Amino acid sequence: MASITILLDQCTGCTLCLKACPFGAVHMANKKAVIDMAKCTLCGACAGACKFGAIELKDLSGPKRDLSAYKDVWVFCEQKKGHIQSISFELLGEGKKLASKLGVKLCAVILGSGIEPKIAELSERGADKVYLVDHPALQFYQDDPYTEALVKLVEEYKPEIVLCGATTIGRSLISRVAIRTGAGLTADCTGLDIDGKERLLLQTRPAFGGNIMATIVTPRHRPQMATVRHKVMQEAGIDKGNKAEVVRKTYPEEVFKSRTRLIETVEEISETINLSEADIIVAGGRGLGGNEGFAMIGELAKVLNGAVGASRSAVDAGWIPYSHQVGQTGKTVVPKLYIACGISGQIQHLIGMQSSKVIVAINKDPDAPILKVATYGIVGDALEIVPALTREFRRLLGKK
Ligand SMILES: Cc1cc2nc3c(=O)[nH]c(=O)nc-3n(C[C@H](O)[C@H](O)[C@H](O)COP(=O)(O)OP(=O)(O)OC[C@H]3O[C@@H](n4cnc5c(N)ncnc54)[C@H](O)[C@@H]3O)c2cc1C
Repeated sequence: MASITILLDQCTGCTLCLKACPFGAVHMANKKAVIDMAKCTLCGACAGACKFGAIELKDLSGPKRDLSAYKDVWVFCEQKKGHIQSISFELLGEGKKLASKLGVKLCAVILGSGIEPKIAELSERGADKVYLVDHPALQFYQDDPYTEALVKLVEEYKPEIVLCGATTIGRSLISRVAIRTGAGLTADCTGLDIDGKERLLLQTRPAFGGNIMATIVTPRHRPQMATVRHKVMQEAGIDKGNKAEVVRKTYPEEVFKSRTRLIETVEEISETINLSEADIIVAGGRGLGGNEGFAMIGELAKVLNGAVGASRSAVDAGWIPYSHQVGQTGKTVVPKLYIACGISGQIQHLIGMQSSKVIVAINKDPDAPILKVATYGIVGDALEIVPALTREFRRLLGKK
């Protein structure tokens, strides 16, 4: 919490603050600065720009809490049907670097049912300690029991940092845990580091529609919690010699109670390859013009044994479900080959795919931004080029 005040006797009407405000929240009246609190975000840019000390930004959040009891880096390791998801290995890789910079332990947290055999896997991936809660109610993800169990662990063992995948489960779980434990949470990070002097987690993520990268710190709260996108970090290597200490926790039955009941799990895309894991992605945008265009790229993806991706425009148009969306508000993908068909290449899309090894862009417009990041560009009509590519790959790969 903060408050902002203009000290009128010190304000010279120089307008520096007006120029510095990124939100257009400052205007001049009678040669004095006035702040529109409906627009102000208390970012402090105006106070920083004022050379006359005429803008007072006060921190009202009270005395700093004693945070010294918090230590260790935790990674929430997501499992589905007993399989640890690869995002967890990516976070263990990144968590190890953070833990060694802080001189603390890397701890894996796993919740599930019958997951004892998974301890070895987490240990091999570099965890110094594994916290395990095994209970039938945790077999499938459900908000209430997962939140309760993780909150209990956090309250008892006080981690300094908690990392979690920016997956559907991770996003749902960690926001609940953050609220319950009074933690700071930064969602969808693409970079993490440590400010060694202050022992703060530096959490970098796209902001303002992806136009800038913001580095966020949470100096007053613990744990510092961050969700991280899939495929942004390198997976931890395997060290068969690493033996993690194991903490098995049991809790009273009420901890595992749920206000909701899981009736059924339905796989949305049962026949296609998981987008995040695919080596080849054929993605379509508004330029494909509709369902027929998407059927064409579906054919090409099938021949290449790849997955189908999409821009948000295509998803918004209802041509393909959201689970295929690539980009800032969709998935981050790093395939070996990304074929973008009729996608203009706005920054929000590029954020999700620009680290692909080879990018092929098919676009009618020679000035489309996607062609600037593409390894190979084909200028032309995707509705003609895609079927031609499908025919040729089918022939070359000997497929029917
Ligand atoms: C906060 C926020 C978050 C967002 N998140 C995402 C996100 O996660 N993912 C995402 O994709 N977008 C996202 N967007 C939207 C993004 O800004 C763009 O609007 C979107 O990516 C554009 O999609 P498009 O490239 O399919 O469509 P357009 O920008 O309309 O581009 C269509 C392209 O197709 C080409 N074309 C037309 N016909 C043909 C043809 N026959 N053959 C070949 N080329 C053709 C055109 O030349 C053009 O380049 C977000 C926006 C905001 C504000």
